[in-house]
Amino acid sequence: MTKRLATFTLTVASAASLLLFGSTAASAASPPHAITVTPADVSSPLDIVTTSTTMDEFLVSIVTNVDGYWSGVWDTDGLATPAVNYAFPLPGESVETLCSQTGLSDDVSAFYCPADDTIVVSQQFATRVWEGAIKANPDLTERYPTGDFSVAYVVAHEYAHSLQAELGWVTDTSLAYPGYKIELHADCWAGVWANSAYYAGILESGDVEEAVQTALDLGDYYVTDPTHHGTPAQRSGAFLTGYNSGLPEACEPYLTDVY
Ligand SMILES: [Zn+2]
Repeated sequence: MTKRLATFTLTVASAASLLLFGSTAASAASPPHAITVTPADVSSPLDIVTTSTTMDEFLVSIVTNVDGYWSGVWDTDGLATPAVNYAFPLPGESVETLCSQTGLSDDVSAFYCPADDTIVVSQQFATRVWEGAIKANPDLTERYPTGDFSVAYVVAHEYAHSLQAELGWVTDTSLAYPGYKIELHADCWAGVWANSAYYAGILESGDVEEAVQTALDLGDYYVTDPTHHGTPAQRSGAFLTGYNSGLPEACEPYLTDVY
């Protein structure tokens, strides 16, 4: 269950968020491999990917699909339906958030704020992710083109943080695991959702590669920094672990193993 928050025009300069991609044990679900792709699946919300006229519509279609998938997983596990707010501010717009020193979101970040239980993806940031313009590491190698599914991966990653919050692993004051493990686990769960999209027949050719490239781009080598999100290889590997397995529990080693 998702709820959109109101945005408003930003009137003060805000500092770059410190919470880029989050500052911040599932049990088994039915393996997506058991899902039979039928013609009916083709009409699912992700088809908006190719027909959206606005970034907002695209982002809403993704968060709705991600929410639908995980709500099913939670329901299967007998858990209360997950709930989260979201805001996708237009360039120059903002949303109030407790996860910014200014109290407002900016145009250059995407994050999940546990204190607000809100996913915030600025549309300008999403556009730059789509274009492959955001890089957190100095690697120059680009293996694949970025694209719409780069943005889908970001949304699914932030949504995963809201699930981690539902499970008590992420609060507004603490993390149950080191930050980079929380981040890699979120990447893995983004991959698990992508697997469900594949078996629903709604991935386009090249989508998985787009997400992999963005995971590579957003990895970093600041391994001693508390905001370290995992190396490029770890982030792309975590996404693919989730994607290739389609099993939420396949991501648990990212939390518990020593690496
Ligand atoms: Zn994150």
